[in-house]
Amino acid sequence: MNVKKKLHLYLIDDILVIMFQNYLAGKEDFEAIEEGIATVWHPELDFIFKDKNLLKNIVVISFDSQYFYLWTKVSLSGLEKLPSNLRDYHFYQVKHQIKFSDEDQLGWRVGLTLEKMADYLPKNILIGNYQFPKISGSSLNPFVKSHQKVNAKGYRGDAYDTRESYLATIVHEFGHVYYGQHKLFWYSSKKENLDEILIQKHQRILSGLPISKQTLPG
Ligand SMILES: [Zn+2]
Repeated sequence: MNVKKKLHLYLIDDILVIMFQNYLAGKEDFEAIEEGIATVWHPELDFIFKDKNLLKNIVVISFDSQYFYLWTKVSLSGLEKLPSNLRDYHFYQVKHQIKFSDEDQLGWRVGLTLEKMADYLPKNILIGNYQFPKISGSSLNPFVKSHQKVNAKGYRGDAYDTRESYLATIVHEFGHVYYGQHKLFWYSSKKENLDEILIQKHQRILSGLPISKQTLPG
């Protein structure tokens, strides 16, 4: 490796370390997430997300070094509200004290990136993964830059180093939640399925929510 290239790599590393430890998400990051959310509601994706009811309770959570950012269709009390471009979503920020590592910046997932995030989130969205399924992941810039870093280190097969792949990742997680609700969890076991349904009923009773047939899986 020539000297110039070596220097370039070190600089990338330094920039990334500084960025992630103190990164504060901004307009560009929020717009990317909102574009991801808008995409799943777009009629062009009706062939994937046919039953929009299965999308409406999904809470989208992102983070930076100081805040969690929540997009939800239900309004949550006691949280600081931010302006959103999405007409029918509420956009909130919640202060946190968690240190996210470089690895935490690499992806999105169903549920919470780190379990301890739950300590800072409103209790009513934490009750059960069926009432308020959650997807979470890093902000656009740290996400894209950490994947670029993987490629800059010599591994050229990382396809997640663009804004488009970031959007696709968010849509992909909506897909997981959608099909998770749509299909039975345990394909082969009647007992497991019944147990799952009972757990969900129980959670709804505990949280004072009405039990309707539509909210059950299968
Ligand atoms: Zn997946």
